[in-house]
Amino acid sequence: MQKNKVSVISFVASEKTQEMMTDELNWCMRDKTPQYAKWQAKDGDTVITLYESGKVVFQGKDADLSSDFWITTEKINSGKVDVKNSASKEKKDKLDKTSYVNPRIYNSSSIGSDEVGTGDYFGPIVVTAAYVPKDKINILEELGVKDSKKLTDSQILEIVPKFIKEIKYESMILSNEDYNKFYSTDINMNKIKALLHNKVLYKLSSEIKDYEYIIVDQFAESYVYFNYLKESSNVVRNITFFTKGEDKHLSVACASLISRYIFIKEFDKLSKSIGIELPKGASNIVDDIGKKIVEKYGFDKLKEIAKLNFKNTEKIKEI
Ligand code: MN
Repeated sequence: MQKNKVSVISFVASEKTQEMMTDELNWCMRDKTPQYAKWQAKDGDTVITLYESGKVVFQGKDADLSSDFWITTEKINSGKVDVKNSASKEKKDKLDKTSYVNPRIYNSSSIGSDEVGTGDYFGPIVVTAAYVPKDKINILEELGVKDSKKLTDSQILEIVPKFIKEIKYESMILSNEDYNKFYSTDINMNKIKALLHNKVLYKLSSEIKDYEYIIVDQFAESYVYFNYLKESSNVVRNITFFTKGEDKHLSVACASLISRYIFIKEFDKLSKSIGIELPKGASNIVDDIGKKIVEKYGFDKLKEIAKLNFKNTEKIKEI
């Protein structure tokens, strides 16, 4: 598997960096050193060798992680660093693949799905599947659907009503109460996502007969996705998974925008219902507001408005 692939990363270290490395890695140095090496160390899964020439070589599947600190150190110590990376070409290829937009797919009549709210402590999870036929691509682009990632909340509130009448879609909102009931050791966030994506995709694809692709904005490897659905009925199988799916077909971009639109509306409703403006995300600000809510309404209120399995809950409990 890709993950286990050994990569080799090297650079020439200045005297200062060499000294620092020798100090820092002293604890994991091997007794034996290869020819022309000053020392060799094994830190986790990475083998690090410093040669007499000053060249440092990192080898192992996590070589990029463990070399990162020392590359930065070298940059600080000598102002520049020339890194050789055996994995760089491969990684570049992979990157190109994720950003490559296939015109055949982009210009097809397809269904796409995307979700929102999974990184927010407060508020529901919303999943949408949208269908964009070929002949709607131009008008959607003109309405600005293409650059959906760059849109602010207020832009989303403006743009979605403009195109929503043009296309068919199916959305599902998983309330916080239901989320907190579902979430357990057996059902994790990715399984919840898979179940919801499958539901909206099944509903929409049953209605539409002439789609060419079903595209899901990828959040798990495809075999993992289908494994989550192994006890489900009506599993939609003919899916193409894409990272950065919203660039690959406008149906995913529309699905993402509609999900966000619904999420914003639901989020505002929650804020109004408790008389406290809720923050998005899962930062410290969220903890502070969470504490306020518990003080005002008691802990049980969180069950209705928050995702209790997030770490924030523990921090909020600390009061
Ligand atoms: Mn997504």
